[in-house]
Amino acid sequence: MSKIIHNRRQFLTASALGMGAATLTLGSTGLVGRAHAAAPLATTQAPYFYRFMHGDAQVTMVSDGPLPLGSPAGNFLGVEEDVINGMLTDNFLPTDNVVLEQNIPIVNINGNLILFDTGMGTIDMFGPTTGRLLKSMDEAGIAPEDIDYIVCTHGHIDHIGGIVGASGPYFPNAELYISQADFDYWTDENKLSGGLGPFVQAARDNLMPVRERISFFKDEEEFLPGITAMATPGHTVGHTIFMIESGGSPLCFIGDLTHHQILLVERPRIEFAYDTDPKQSADSRVRALDMLAANRIPCMAFHFPWPGIGHFVKMGDGFRFLPSPMQLG
Ligand SMILES: [Zn+2]
Repeated sequence: MSKIIHNRRQFLTASALGMGAATLTLGSTGLVGRAHAAAPLATTQAPYFYRFMHGDAQVTMVSDGPLPLGSPAGNFLGVEEDVINGMLTDNFLPTDNVVLEQNIPIVNINGNLILFDTGMGTIDMFGPTTGRLLKSMDEAGIAPEDIDYIVCTHGHIDHIGGIVGASGPYFPNAELYISQADFDYWTDENKLSGGLGPFVQAARDNLMPVRERISFFKDEEEFLPGITAMATPGHTVGHTIFMIESGGSPLCFIGDLTHHQILLVERPRIEFAYDTDPKQSADSRVRALDMLAANRIPCMAFHFPWPGIGHFVKMGDGFRFLPSPMQLG
């Protein structure tokens, strides 16, 4: 205290104002130099990337931005609306708008830089907050031309939407992988006139111009060094999750195995409106989450709260997601 307050009068003034020693460290004179004008509200956010090591692999999670889904009613099916709203309220989440993140891992492994899924691109079906992938990559210092492979979990609009733009492919040197089942289903022009039309159009716009660069993986195939496909059909016919193995330990990118960290984890049999086959999707979800929990495998989830990294554990008839702390130091 004696180093900060130089005379008795200053000390009494500070005491009268109810200020503690911490306030007085602002300057050697204690009370001078404070800004009394209101500071303007800041308009910027933290950069939207997070980097960590897994074995010898480096993972940079980038974001395509939040995707507001709207009311849970009509999106999460098979249970009473009250049950859904109760689960959201119990977890301090709003009941009028379910906001999903779009977490996109870029993995530098065994000499390849691999982008997993690509977000919405310029498609504004879910509003203006999506389509941030290239900006997030720029913030992370990753150039689009450095991507060697794009690996897609499935053919939905928020996973393939960022492959091709108005002036051509965003990633000029990338080869692509997706399941053949999803490629065939979502590029089928016979579906253009039906309810899936906008999804099929988006898939055709993003996949057909790069058709020559697309390869198909098979279930349980290690199709790139360290990357193994695991079929989890239901959300789409060919939905696939990926085991990323380095240093003898696995890390799983679960894509859309579950869209919500509470609803479709604690009650994994709840159905999701965008599932091609909701019952098969729930079966795949329970089977894969069982395996991931039993083996304590760290996971990355596309739609979970940023950055979507953590573990699943069994809880009652369902599971619980335990997010991993970010390590920024
Ligand atoms: Zn999705």
